[in-house]
Amino acid sequence: MDSSDDDVEEYLFKIVIIGDSAVGKSNLLSRYARDEFNLHSKATIGVEFQTQVLEINGKEVKAQIWDTAGQERFRAVTSAYYRGAFGALLVYDISRRSTFESVTRWLDELNTHCDTTVAKMLVGNKCDLDNIRDVSIEEGAKLAEAEGLFFMETSALDSTNVNKAFEIVIREIYSNVSRKVL
Ligand code: GDP
Repeated sequence: MDSSDDDVEEYLFKIVIIGDSAVGKSNLLSRYARDEFNLHSKATIGVEFQTQVLEINGKEVKAQIWDTAGQERFRAVTSAYYRGAFGALLVYDISRRSTFESVTRWLDELNTHCDTTVAKMLVGNKCDLDNIRDVSIEEGAKLAEAEGLFFMETSALDSTNVNKAFEIVIREIYSNVSRKVL
């Protein structure tokens, strides 16, 4: 066997996106994975994931990013969805306070299914809607600090901070040293 095969290291990390319905979870994923945005929510229900590859320190790091794809509308995010997650994006909509108020419930649910070492990012999405903002950036930052989460405001519509949010989580997981698959 060629010894150079041994030099290629690959990592695979599962990341889940959670948060209330219509906060922009699917669009954050499609913006990150395909640089696409959709004006209308999808009608289909069912878990979907996309795989993104990032090179970190010469290593190929694959992030398998899962979208609830509407399950949360029926309060039916299953334990299988959370199983094996190394990272999570907890998303709210900065123009809808109720979605921010749900964050602690999502965090509790995440913590009941996953290890506390999961890398977590609080994401205030739709920051392009600053004119109808319902949650201040300070409130987001304060909650994140209190709960030990990374924090970022994003816009899947105009791409603000989308790549950054995912990549911070992926890099954090990598630096925590996770599952080696090959
Ligand atoms: P999900 O149910 O959390 O997956 O939310 P979707 O990604 O389906 O988005 C719900 C709605 O919000 C859709 O009409 C999107 O076009 C819209 N949306 C998503 N992200 C943004 C954003 O960053 N800015 C604005 N203005 N609208 C967004």
